[in-house]
Amino acid sequence: MKTLADFDFKNKKALIRVDFNVPLDENFQVTDATRIEAAKPTIDHILSGGGSVILMSHLGRPKGAEAKYSLKHIVAKTSEVLGVSVKFAENCIGEQASTAAQNLQPGEVLLLENLRFHPEEEAGDVAFSKALASLGDIYVNDAFGTAHRAHASTTIIAQFFPNDKSFGLLLAKEIESLNRVLKHSEKPVTAVLGGSKVSSKITVIENILDKIDHMIIGGGMTFTFVKALGGQIGNSICEDDKLQLALDILEAAREKNVQIHLPVDVIAANAFANDAQTQIIDVKQIPDGWQGLDAGPKSLEQFEQVIKSSKTILWNGPLGVFEMPNFAHGTIALGESIAQATAAGAFSLVGGGDSVAAVKQFGLEPRMSYVSTGGGAMLEMLEGRTLPGIAAIMD
Ligand code: AMP
Repeated sequence: MKTLADFDFKNKKALIRVDFNVPLDENFQVTDATRIEAAKPTIDHILSGGGSVILMSHLGRPKGAEAKYSLKHIVAKTSEVLGVSVKFAENCIGEQASTAAQNLQPGEVLLLENLRFHPEEEAGDVAFSKALASLGDIYVNDAFGTAHRAHASTTIIAQFFPNDKSFGLLLAKEIESLNRVLKHSEKPVTAVLGGSKVSSKITVIENILDKIDHMIIGGGMTFTFVKALGGQIGNSICEDDKLQLALDILEAAREKNVQIHLPVDVIAANAFANDAQTQIIDVKQIPDGWQGLDAGPKSLEQFEQVIKSSKTILWNGPLGVFEMPNFAHGTIALGESIAQATAAGAFSLVGGGDSVAAVKQFGLEPRMSYVSTGGGAMLEMLEGRTLPGIAAIMD
């Protein structure tokens, strides 16, 4: 696996695919610069090695060249984060981009206009990829969030750099962290899977059963399992067409010696609302008109024991409807247990959309070993798939 350390960037132009798909407010100000900050180590490495940097990214889902999705809005913030006055090319290919790239001096940074202003980007067009490739000497992919897409700038472009392509530091760290869970893990390994639906996590579950010792199931998924086992779930969220699948998962887990931990009690509410009436109740005895919206205290105690005895922990999906403060307790308590296990030496990886939002919201991010930057990409890796953006650098 080639990384930045394998290259001499002196007097070279590094063409870096970054994920600067950042949120903007109505005045086009960047409201969260995390993704820009995350790319900074890679950019700094290249600049301090005597190279120059050409940044390419998408922003939003524009239909053609829509001014509101222009990357010019983020030039000031990028300059501030990098501590360099960033230049901007109003098109990612063509004469302006070529001239700006040619004139770039060591230590300088050029940001190209939104790649998705050209439909060829998402189509993975070869000619478009070649035009992008002509701008730089070394291709670096540091965008995990788009590594599962075979787009021009994430995958197809790599063929024009047969010996001069590398993972950026962020992408390398993502791969390394996932491998630490899926390939070279220290046992016992525990996966916590929450969120709303079994159906969206089934391939993940099937793939990781071979690699783990414990699986904690929480969130809305719980109730499909509980109903399949004959419990009364009231009005809790449930996928009735997945009951057999839930039983099959439990059977597969038994065969593979994976211990499954389902909640034993829940906080049930009489409406899907923060101010609903609540009661703590056995997960198998939820009355009609009530729905389980968070894990109960006994469940949390049991989960804590499992987490604290684990050496490797993967967390994907909240334990309850954490967006409502009254049903966030389970997710916070689980996060706290994982944070404590991490402090005691376990390796913890949090990934996939909502659990990342939750750890950030509850200030737990610095206490996790690694928090992934790519929701869809992370799930696809957990499903055991080879991501095209990663394969393109490995080839
Ligand atoms: P996912 O995208 O599948 O990871 O699901 C995340 C969503 O699941 C979050 O928006 C949570 O509010 C929701 N969720 C978690 N627990 C429950 C529950 N018991 N009932 C309904 N939704 C839930």
